Amino acid sequence: VALSAVLYGAKDLRIENRPVPEPAAGEVEVRIGAGGICGTDLHYFNHGGFGVVRLREPLVLGHEIAGTITKVGDGVADVALGQRVAVNPSHPCNACKYCLKGLQNHCLDMRFYGSAMRFPHVQGAFQQKLVCHASQAIPIPDTLSLNEAACAEPLAVGLHGVRRAGDLVGKRVLITGAGPIGVLTAMAARRAGASEIIVTDIVDHPLSIARECGADQTINTAASPELLAPLVAGKDGVDVLFECSGSNRALVSALAVVRPHGIIVQIGLGGDFTFLMNLVVAKEIDLRGSFRFHEEFHAAVQFLATQRIVVQSLLTQTVPLSDAVRGFALANDRQRAIKVQIAFD
Ligand SMILES: [Zn+2]
Ligand SMILES: [Zn+2]
Repeated sequence: VALSAVLYGAKDLRIENRPVPEPAAGEVEVRIGAGGICGTDLHYFNHGGFGVVRLREPLVLGHEIAGTITKVGDGVADVALGQRVAVNPSHPCNACKYCLKGLQNHCLDMRFYGSAMRFPHVQGAFQQKLVCHASQAIPIPDTLSLNEAACAEPLAVGLHGVRRAGDLVGKRVLITGAGPIGVLTAMAARRAGASEIIVTDIVDHPLSIARECGADQTINTAASPELLAPLVAGKDGVDVLFECSGSNRALVSALAVVRPHGIIVQIGLGGDFTFLMNLVVAKEIDLRGSFRFHEEFHAAVQFLATQRIVVQSLLTQTVPLSDAVRGFALANDRQRAIKVQIAFD
């Protein structure tokens, strides 16, 4: 058995022992060291789900994890006992028509940790011990902390968004939402060649982190919406908008500053949006969705391992597993927290 963080309903998170199976052939057991609380986890915790996705049975939360291999099943050659790894929470079938096209994030039989999208739910990874397929365990160097390695998942989301945008070389980019996904997308966009990166939010603290992480300009659109105005004048707007807040208002105000033939990549999951489709039509804007990731997970681990993307300043708090409820409350407080992680040792 191992202690796990199990959600029974909105605000009803319990730390309890759950059975841990022996790793089968091709599987490994990972002693989880760090687990990041994601916006999705928060939605489950705060509201018992999001949109039409509702909690229908107790769900172990968590999908941003890293740890150390403690058991190895038969036939596993790539990772050894004691190896420190980032765990990819995505487990596609690799056999359906989308997987065969290389679009694993659209797998018809996806098993993504800590998700109530299917029933029975796919249990998550906020457990002291996790058994996963060996291919999900990506080795990391000793120079990378497990806390940083646990950011590979949200970084992969940012990298996938950047890929959806296409060529960013020399482009002026706007990112709405300075949460972990927004800031990681900013760093990924910089690596992809963006020349100017503007980040907006309605809270100052995450904007200061975005600046620390390399944003050229940050704007608090609640306090100073007029700072967006120069971007609207003379159609001198941004080439690409990454909408990372999931907020309807953010998209509406940003839509005005996307230049003709600009691209909007919608990463934030916000449910129902209402906006002026006329602007999309008149400016011939490309509106693109971006959902999870696939091979970008490996690229994310690589970026972190080589310190080409450094996530230290995003890691604002770590709480012990026994204090997970406090961790979720903290994660809700955007004045204080960017990324809250749980320590499982
Ligand atoms: Zn996440
Ligand atoms: Zn598939």
